[in-house]
Amino acid sequence: MSRVNTVLGPIATEELGIVAIHEHIGYGMPGSELDTKWWKTPEVRYEETVPKLRKFHEYGGGTFVDVTGICNGRDIDYYKSLSAKTGVHIIACTGFVGGDTALPFFERATVEYLTAQFVHEITVGIGNTGSRAGVIKVGVSRGGRMTDLDKRIYRAAARAALNTGVPILTHLAIDAENAIAIFNEEGLPLHRVLFGHADDGINAEKTRDTWIASQGGRVGFDTFGYETELEDPPFWARPRNERLDHFLRFLRAGHLDQALAGVDANCSPLGWPGVKGHTVNYLFEDLIPDLRDAGLDDATITKLFVENPADFLTIQP
Ligand SMILES: [Zn+2]
Repeated sequence: MSRVNTVLGPIATEELGIVAIHEHIGYGMPGSELDTKWWKTPEVRYEETVPKLRKFHEYGGGTFVDVTGICNGRDIDYYKSLSAKTGVHIIACTGFVGGDTALPFFERATVEYLTAQFVHEITVGIGNTGSRAGVIKVGVSRGGRMTDLDKRIYRAAARAALNTGVPILTHLAIDAENAIAIFNEEGLPLHRVLFGHADDGINAEKTRDTWIASQGGRVGFDTFGYETELEDPPFWARPRNERLDHFLRFLRAGHLDQALAGVDANCSPLGWPGVKGHTVNYLFEDLIPDLRDAGLDDATITKLFVENPADFLTIQP
């Protein structure tokens, strides 16, 4: 049986349903949980998150992929209770959002050390929660070029992916030549990698999305909803139609099989106020209607939000 690790245990791939592929239950910079200005009680975190996940479930959402890295507020026991209470499958990740969000403890970690860490979280469990990671997160540090630590994390992720069959998601798809060189050296097929944030307002210009696709990689248009039209748009915002047109261009260029879409939601932000007016439900309230208005049929919508994610997330034998 093909299966995927969720925080409540492995499930059959067919049970994933509609997938939000690149999201966060609660994301913040390492240490934000120690700042009394931003510290949140469990009550507040549940209050901010449960209604969003309930609505997601009501809309027909099946699975929420949380790609919050090891040091960015990942909280598995909390995810387990959210999943049990709302009925939404939650997939947790191992790995790091980027070398620059790994705590100094990991600064000099070797590839072998990091590989063992990732493999343990995928095959044994995360901490003492008993929950196994279903994806591996990696990313490019601020500055636009992969640092030495980023490269060690990518290489360790490739080895862990080959060892366990779990796929890799990236934060940012810039500097993809270096990333792809590492994956090729390790012998990881590129359809096991989703190069994320190809569509954000800062990096879209610098991201070689069609080249990545031509190399066999998957491409994530996963910051939908961060629009310049918002009341207080974040620095990575982009005009709504510009992002949508970019995505449609990518699909029309023949890359539907390699396309995935998400909204990079942050249900209960840690250490910052978050972006007002943006939730995971943008997926149902705006994105899917916009895609239908642009002429995408039901089969294409199902392919984007059910079939492609299932194909990507399924643990390879
Ligand atoms: Zn993200």
